Amino acid sequence: MLLKGKTAVVTGGSRGIGLAIVKRFLEEGANVALCGSREETAQRALDGILAENPDAPVMAIWPSVADEAELEAAFRQVAERFGGLDIVCNNAGISQSTSLDDYTPEEFDKIIEINVKGVLNGCQAASRVLGEGGVIINTSSMVSKMGQPSGVAYPMSKFAVNGITISLARELGPRGIRVNAVAPGVTATDMVACLPEELIAPIEAGIPLKRVGQPEDVANAFVYLASDLASYVTGEVLAVDGGMTV
Ligand code: NAD
Repeated sequence: MLLKGKTAVVTGGSRGIGLAIVKRFLEEGANVALCGSREETAQRALDGILAENPDAPVMAIWPSVADEAELEAAFRQVAERFGGLDIVCNNAGISQSTSLDDYTPEEFDKIIEINVKGVLNGCQAASRVLGEGGVIINTSSMVSKMGQPSGVAYPMSKFAVNGITISLARELGPRGIRVNAVAPGVTATDMVACLPEELIAPIEAGIPLKRVGQPEDVANAFVYLASDLASYVTGEVLAVDGGMTV
């Protein structure tokens, strides 16, 4: 058990990659707070986990990632329930495939609010609540290395996530807090299901390992970075993309 006795928060933990992280962290012995965008979805995910394992040390929270004060209060609530907080995964994110000419200011703002400010807010709240030896892991994307052919705001936001990660690794390192990111490739979640086939098919054909990633592939990288196996790893953006960006 790589995370025994640790307590973690996972934003965007109600489905997809986030839910896989929650489940893998529980398997590795962590206490976990899954963070959803709404009470209903967070509660449903919690019920699903408890139906499989009624004794799982898991709770649900639903602060807005756009509001640092709300996030910080929720993180403190988690720390109170489990006796501390060790790991914060800023995983919540939204995708866009709008072409440049069709973008509206509102669409740009939405991506910035959730994917950039949401991650920054999560890092700030984490910095205020995590103790020495704390870990922050942000969800980036392969598009932070290669861009994408439409929906420029999404890769833009993930380049920003990498910038936040690398800079905060330097700022928080002296306090013993590690900051890393995981950059998934095409991963089989709702986010990918809603993208147009003409965007996904050529990407899939170009994956050296010739398969789309599963949420568990990505969650395993979070387990590694959260654990003491990665105790000398910080400022890293770890690709989990089947070799797509090699
Ligand atoms: P998903 O759509 O299945 O899940 C997204 C999660 O983010 C959900 O739990 C949702 O509740 C949460 N979320 C969305 N808006 C929110 C808001 N306003 N406030 C709080 N939470 C909010 O997608 P996923 O594929 O599991 O994506 C998870 C992360 O992985 C995202 O950051 C995404 O950019 C990244 N990612 C996904 C892929 C992929 O192929 N699926 C690839 C690279 C990166």
